[in-house]
Amino acid sequence: MYELHDDTLGQTVMFDGVQLGFSTTEESLDTHRWTEVTIYRTAAGAYVVCKAGLSRIVHAYGSNCSSTARTVDATYDDAIACVKCQPDLVNDELFLEEVDRSYVHVSATPSGIIESLYSTDANGVTYMTTTARRALRQASAADADLSRASTTRVIA
Ligand SMILES: [Zn+2]
Repeated sequence: MYELHDDTLGQTVMFDGVQLGFSTTEESLDTHRWTEVTIYRTAAGAYVVCKAGLSRIVHAYGSNCSSTARTVDATYDDAIACVKCQPDLVNDELFLEEVDRSYVHVSATPSGIIESLYSTDANGVTYMTTTARRALRQASAADADLSRASTTRVIA
């Protein structure tokens, strides 16, 4: 049973199924932030995409670097101190930790889930990120319906 969290809806999505594809950006050494895209097929034949934004950055308590960071009283082993507010990861007692975000899309059809892999830029142009493309390529190799749907895009 998979359990994915959608932060927009505050909802946990649970299903039996298989993971078809996964891709992650290289963690940027400048930002220590990265994204992951995972594609699943449920046991009933629906498709699920999970897009996640992740971070290793920890800020000093009271800093205003991030508006969405949450207060924590300890950091994890691979945490990276923000270069701007420079928290002392050893001696400080409170920190602001950047919150990981994930979004879940569900579709009964292969073409529907492929649409959810597109992003839209400021000009309204839709495009697929390299990370999403890699996950789709892997998933298409494991699922014939997804493979067929990924070669044609029908738009209104
Ligand atoms: Zn900071």
